[in-house]
Amino acid sequence: MQYIKILGAGPAGLSAAINLANEGYIVDVFEKNKDIGSRVQKNLQGLENWSDNQDIIKEFRKMKIKPNFDFEPFKNLKITNNDENWDFYCKRPAFYLVKRGTEEKSLDQGLKEQALDKGVNIHFEETAPIEDVDIVATVLIQETNSQLQED
Ligand SMILES: Cc1cc2nc3c(=O)[nH]c(=O)nc-3n(C[C@H](O)[C@H](O)[C@H](O)COP(=O)(O)OP(=O)(O)OC[C@H]3O[C@@H](n4cnc5c(N)ncnc54)[C@H](O)[C@@H]3O)c2cc1C
Repeated sequence: MQYIKILGAGPAGLSAAINLANEGYIVDVFEKNKDIGSRVQKNLQGLENWSDNQDIIKEFRKMKIKPNFDFEPFKNLKITNNDENWDFYCKRPAFYLVKRGTEEKSLDQGLKEQALDKGVNIHFEETAPIEDVDIVATVLIQETNSQLQED
């Protein structure tokens, strides 16, 4: 059995965890907060879909990640700086609006559910030194940053 330790249970850490668990790894994820998505509580965010020909929801499926969260496609965009307006119409969704945070059907809770289903061990309110983990899936915090500069 191969073991993998991941620092940070955001979308990057959990996507990696789900994929590695699918491949038979035993995965431990360390999350400093008490739940997934605490940092982005009650936010709506857009899954960008205009910059690539491949649809992001199809990409999720290709990565064997189920879209088990609410996602709303947006094709029409109206952008204004109060002086000028720009209207965009895209044939396919320009982005998908998703909920972030700890509430049901958010991106974060959907990924958490899938990770737990795959047997990923999520250690809430725990961290680990970066030298002890295989994947750092978080913006580096101050201490880890200075640690890196010393190496
Ligand atoms: C106001 C705002 C609006 C945004 N809007 C959008 C948008 O519309 N579309 C979009 O695609 N992106 C948006 N983003 C960016 C989006 O939040 C990130 O792209 C996304 O969350 C990055 O995921 P991640 O897994 O890389 O990192 P994060 O979501 O930052 O996850 C990192 C996780 O690691 C944990 N962690 C951090 N340090 C440690 C540690 N030392 N030990 C243990 N755990 C730790 C954190 O608690 C967190 O759960 C926005 C960001 C902000 C701030």
